[in-house]
Amino acid sequence: MNQTAMTQLNQRPCWIFDMDGTLTHAVHDFEEMRMALGLPPGQPILESIAARSPEEAEKLHRHLYEIEHLLATNAIAQPGARSLLSRLQLDGRRIGILTRNSEALAHITLQAAGLSEFFEDAFIIGRERCAPKPDPAGINLLMELWSSTPDDTVMIGDYLFDLQAGRSAGTMTIHFDSQGSFQWPEESDLNVCDLEKLATHLDKGSS
Ligand SMILES: [Mg+2]
Repeated sequence: MNQTAMTQLNQRPCWIFDMDGTLTHAVHDFEEMRMALGLPPGQPILESIAARSPEEAEKLHRHLYEIEHLLATNAIAQPGARSLLSRLQLDGRRIGILTRNSEALAHITLQAAGLSEFFEDAFIIGRERCAPKPDPAGINLLMELWSSTPDDTVMIGDYLFDLQAGRSAGTMTIHFDSQGSFQWPEESDLNVCDLEKLATHLDKGSS
């Protein structure tokens, strides 16, 4: 692992996680979801829905909720997620979630995955409370709640929007990709394919 980036990471007290596909196993097939909702392929779902008429958007949101609810109740933790979150908690770091999912579904997901004990409700930010990633609004909101700065903060996620949101807010960015293909090197400061390993490296750094 990149030593300079690891040293920087160790010094950062505030960690913001993407949820689906980062803390949990990737189960969302967004192309399949778009098809089920009758939305154009390759376009972000929330933005496609927002472009529809209010009546249509409401119907689509209800349908989206049904699909996401089923996925949430079956959520499984990403290997190493517990180790990493425990490590951060032991270190006394702040941890929060920024998801494009709804907050209600975020709670169901974390419960199902056995990870809810790590997060205070106020620090689980969903699409009700801010513009969705890649907009940095949710990161800015968490930093405000924590009275922290971009230099204190890390954004970690498995998708381009997570990294772009981090970049826009000026935080350090970590790309998590269990496949190790890392498609957006210019958007990430550190690439990680194993959360357990990341937890171990933090252990070493703090000793
Ligand atoms: Mg994700």
